[in-house]
Amino acid sequence: PAVPPKSTVSSILVALRIRPLTTKESKESTIAVIKPISKTSLSVTDFSDAQDVLRQDRPREKTYDFDCVFSETASQVNVFEGTTKGLVDFVLQGFNTTVFAYGATGAGKTYTMLGTQENPGVMPLTLEHLFSQIGKSTRAQTTNGPNAVTQSFKVTLSYLEIYNENIRDLLSGRPDYLELWEDRLRGSVVAGIERVEAKTAADVLEWLEKGNLNRTQEATGANEASSRSHAVLQIFVAKRTCNKKGQYTEQSGKLSMIDLAGSERAADTKNRGMRMIEGASINRSLLALGNCINALTEEGSNGKYVNYRDSKLTRLLKDSLGGNCKTVMIANISPTSSNFEETLNTLKYASRARAI
Ligand code: ADP
Ligand code: MG
Repeated sequence: PAVPPKSTVSSILVALRIRPLTTKESKESTIAVIKPISKTSLSVTDFSDAQDVLRQDRPREKTYDFDCVFSETASQVNVFEGTTKGLVDFVLQGFNTTVFAYGATGAGKTYTMLGTQENPGVMPLTLEHLFSQIGKSTRAQTTNGPNAVTQSFKVTLSYLEIYNENIRDLLSGRPDYLELWEDRLRGSVVAGIERVEAKTAADVLEWLEKGNLNRTQEATGANEASSRSHAVLQIFVAKRTCNKKGQYTEQSGKLSMIDLAGSERAADTKNRGMRMIEGASINRSLLALGNCINALTEEGSNGKYVNYRDSKLTRLLKDSLGGNCKTVMIANISPTSSNFEETLNTLKYASRARAI
């Protein structure tokens, strides 16, 4: 198998995005606690001790570093170009890549991944780039001469949800839970999941929209429309290279794009009963993901044990994290003081995920 350029082996890029204030928030008096101070760092002012008279005049400031920091004014295209655009060529070369949006409910994960009609997010922009690269490479082929080769691509996708550590197929909409297998040749395989072909980025988005109608969404104390599940879109790109004699080789790459469940702690949403269990499961997957990434990025991680088995999410991503894979994490935060605890947790999680 081909080997990707050295600088990109086992690499993870961690980006931090601060969303702008919502209309409602800008009417309330909120204190800005987050300040980008460069393209790769931001400072956080901790006002949580403001009540304490002794501390009132000296709020604590702390700096966090990332591979890139996107401020409130960053456009969707800015975020795409700084994060996932570079993944596309790897997928076309047959490697697995993963991008996920991390953050508390309301921090901007879905906006970053999906976006709106007017401002499409990372998913549509990446897919457009993918299909445009496929078109380019198909047109550039030399089909004449003794060494003529032809390349053809086939793009298929699946879309699933992990909810309470159960996997559900969002495309088929079937209510039953699917099993996860680890196949020696094919990697992580979800048994019986629907896989459909897409010829254009618009095809994928149509499937995505259809699948989103099947997502589990319930009201919680934190946010009525909060998503308690991880949504995983997987794009499979099979490339067949054929010579004049009709001999061919096949390579396949996988691009996983994940809108993670809200990272807020179950206790903060005043959850009870079932919701409490959900919260625990969500944290289990997020915790396992964080642990895997930490193990992968730690210095001298060669041979270090990475425990993928702790959650469905990490088992599913086992063949798409580490090794020759490339991973992008976009951590989303809100700029306001009212979300301070969650923001701090996200900053800690994301900065820990960075390669040392
Ligand atoms: P999450 O998916 O993390 O729960 P959302 O993506 O739904 O959060 O974002 C919460 C709200 O903030 C939505 O109304 C969304 O449109 C808005 N929003 C988030 N990020 C941005 C942004 N960068 N620019 C403009 N609006 C945003
Ligand atoms: Mg969301």
